[in-house]
Amino acid sequence: MQKELQVFLPYPKSCITQRFGANANYSYARDGLKGHTAYDWGEIYDTKSKKYIGAAWGSPIPNCTFDAYCYSHLNEGNKDLNAYRAVFFLVETETGLYEVSYGHLSTFEAQVGKTYQPGDVIGYVGNTGDVFVGDHEVTALEKNAGSHAGAHLHGPQVRPVKKVTKRSSKKQYLQDSKGVLKKDGFYFEVIDYNNGFNGCVSLAPFSTETLATDYKASIPPPPPITEHAQALQDFAGEIAKEIPSMPEPRKIETQNALQKLFEAIKKILYGGY
Ligand SMILES: [Zn+2]
Repeated sequence: MQKELQVFLPYPKSCITQRFGANANYSYARDGLKGHTAYDWGEIYDTKSKKYIGAAWGSPIPNCTFDAYCYSHLNEGNKDLNAYRAVFFLVETETGLYEVSYGHLSTFEAQVGKTYQPGDVIGYVGNTGDVFVGDHEVTALEKNAGSHAGAHLHGPQVRPVKKVTKRSSKKQYLQDSKGVLKKDGFYFEVIDYNNGFNGCVSLAPFSTETLATDYKASIPPPPPITEHAQALQDFAGEIAKEIPSMPEPRKIETQNALQKLFEAIKKILYGGY
């Protein structure tokens, strides 16, 4: 058993799209949270190496801790793509016990009841649950039509817990698909559930970067169309700048045409094709 929790980064640091505590949109307030409950990792294209260095839809998610006991899958088998699919682990150290989870999965790999080591693939990146592209919340309709927009990895999300033998109605406990989790005669109380993040804490104090670069090689390069779409988007952006100085009928026509073009480019860049 390790002395203290060590968390390896699932992707390079450059792939972080949202940090712990960030409050990028209304969905956190809607859930009674002060902000984001973990780190997010996104689909990043490195123009120098011409490789994805971040999480693309369907890419493998590495387990990031030692001795991670998988205790639950959330929404496995739920066909609703707006239902958050996540996989949950218990990690015990000499100095503390933690729940570590990973969210927005497309599919699961880790099995409930088994223990995993750093680098073991525990699932695949997806866009299930609430995901955004900019200000646009990607809808179930779009996801059902095959859109991979907003695909990213949420986590590892860390939550300190402690083992108890008795439950109190005032406390929160870890749950699995059957209800309150009971393992080896213990329940698992979330230590500071009312901290504004449902008891989650930043992984920063626990993080190490040792595994970070190992995943570059396993992620496929992007299709060449991505580069063309990017160039087209830049060009359309230049035209958009001229709209304010255009005469009235042409202004509206150009605006409408660019709107359609931007929608099409978004589909190419963020999924759907
Ligand atoms: Zn997130």
